[in-house]
Amino acid sequence: MFTDQNGTRYVLIEEPDLCPRCHTAVKVDVLDAHQIAFDAVRGPIAQMVYKCPTRQCGELFIATYMPEQEIRGGYTNRLILINTEPKNYKEEDIPDELQKLSPVYAEIFQQSAQAEKAGLTEIAGMGYRKALEFLVKDYVIKISPDHADKVASLQLMQVIIDYIGPESRRIRECAKRAAWLGNDETHYVRKHTDYNLQDLIRLLRLTATWISSDLQGMDYEEKLQKK
Ligand SMILES: [Zn+2]
Repeated sequence: MFTDQNGTRYVLIEEPDLCPRCHTAVKVDVLDAHQIAFDAVRGPIAQMVYKCPTRQCGELFIATYMPEQEIRGGYTNRLILINTEPKNYKEEDIPDELQKLSPVYAEIFQQSAQAEKAGLTEIAGMGYRKALEFLVKDYVIKISPDHADKVASLQLMQVIIDYIGPESRRIRECAKRAAWLGNDETHYVRKHTDYNLQDLIRLLRLTATWISSDLQGMDYEEKLQKK
């Protein structure tokens, strides 16, 4: 229940059922309620302070509510949940061998995923493109360590063409296509208009999966020799 400046009472029809900080399903405890704005037509914008009841988290967060709009255009005495803040983003799972291969890739990928979840899709697209470059170049430097300086200075597409051979066809073809879409995220003219950010992310993940499989295979080849 929430009472506005005119004494009108509102029902909260949806309380948060997930803590935005620890991502646990919770039955929240209300600590405080405030009216932060009032619109003569719509009514109040209200914020509630909640405490996550779990022992591991126990942190505070704020939920924003607005009056529910009727189908005919008026507003009801029910407040609907708009959002909860602050959000702690869940880190993406990046396999150990990729984190070890390219810590910079792992960091840029996490940041890009956060930007994407926050709705900053333009920034996310550029970030994923940068993550791809670090992943591919660090992989190529691992398999061709003598060429490290050359690989570092070459254009990404040139590295893929020159250093990832037919024996690694899946890595090469996915990386190439990810690079095509990635370039669309950074250039003024978009060449592949039928594909979007989600396609770039899928191709980047595929490239990472093939590289990850290759690294795991190499690791076993090194460690496990015939007796
Ligand atoms: Zn929590």
